[in-house]
Amino acid sequence: MLYRLKTDFRLSIITLLGISALLGISPFAVMRFAQGNMLAGIVDTTIMLAITVGMVYAWVTGDTDRTGLAMAIVACAGAVTVGALVGEPGLFWLYPCLVSSFFLTEPRYAIFINLAAVLALMVHGAAFSSTIQMWSFSATAVVVSCCAYVFAHRNENQRERLEHLATIDPLTGVKNRRSMDEELAMAAASAARTGIAYGLVLLDIDHFKKINDEHGHSVGDDVLTEMVALIEQNIRKSDQLFRFGGEEFVLLMSGVDETGLRAVMHNLQHIMHKFLKHPGGKVTASFGVALLKNGETPDDWLARADEALYKAKASGRDQIVYADDVSAQGPATETA
Ligand code: GH3
Ligand code: MG
Ligand code: MG
Repeated sequence: MLYRLKTDFRLSIITLLGISALLGISPFAVMRFAQGNMLAGIVDTTIMLAITVGMVYAWVTGDTDRTGLAMAIVACAGAVTVGALVGEPGLFWLYPCLVSSFFLTEPRYAIFINLAAVLALMVHGAAFSSTIQMWSFSATAVVVSCCAYVFAHRNENQRERLEHLATIDPLTGVKNRRSMDEELAMAAASAARTGIAYGLVLLDIDHFKKINDEHGHSVGDDVLTEMVALIEQNIRKSDQLFRFGGEEFVLLMSGVDETGLRAVMHNLQHIMHKFLKHPGGKVTASFGVALLKNGETPDDWLARADEALYKAKASGRDQIVYADDVSAQGPATETA
């Protein structure tokens, strides 16, 4: 539960605002019933019920987009109704609702909801004691909405940037291991659902430590970035490259059969032989390749590719080893 609150921004906003609204509105609902203002009491109770249902729905279904929109509408419509019923004291409730709507739903919807709420009160008119008050209220409501918009917009931008940074390897610019775990899980789910074939390649640069030791860490860094650029130029848009860690990378390919996979790997190894160099000579890599089996988990899939990579290293490096060959008849390798 805490994990969901920490990782799902909109769910945490829905929960926070929902609980605050329940705590804030309930004394007024009791007070309005006590004062005999049944209609205002019923409106308050309805708003509280709608907010509770929204929170439960968001937690159960995870559909925070629709819940957020619905809660923004309920909150603003509720504040307008209370304002229309009790006049000036009710108007103050619209301010927190105007701010909240930018955090509950997308800015374009929030702008529309806020404008509609202010216009509805202005057209109804009865909530205001004078024209000056009406225009003061409308102007301040618009200013509050603008400030909330700017703040929510910046917040959203920064959140997207952080999310992006958390998934990218800063040196090579490819996705990191965290994203890889997600993509492998999605690939396994998609294969089970649609029958699309997926291939996975675990790539490890040979004797990379030696390159670092002999030519310096920055040369090692250059080799990593050049290799990534080379691979990305020679794979399809739908293929995905991840940095698994250090000098190990994972290439995930969709819609490939065994023959296609062998052709792609042969070509990739050829291109690396031709173009990938460091000041002391050629850079080679070892590859472990595995096609996703029916019902296989991402961990088992990766483990088979890892086993194939281990064989490639053990059989002299600069080799491509296919997991199917390893399990069928021991290590069958493609050497340079
Ligand atoms: P093998 O052929 O068995 O794979 O040998 P190797 O030397 O490539 O493998 P090993 O695991 O012994 O060394 C990997 C090296 O990669 C050690 C580590 O310092 C280096 N390394 C890891 N990340 C980076 C990086 O971001 N930049 C640089 N320059 N080196 C890195
Ligand atoms: Mg390694
Ligand atoms: Mg290595």
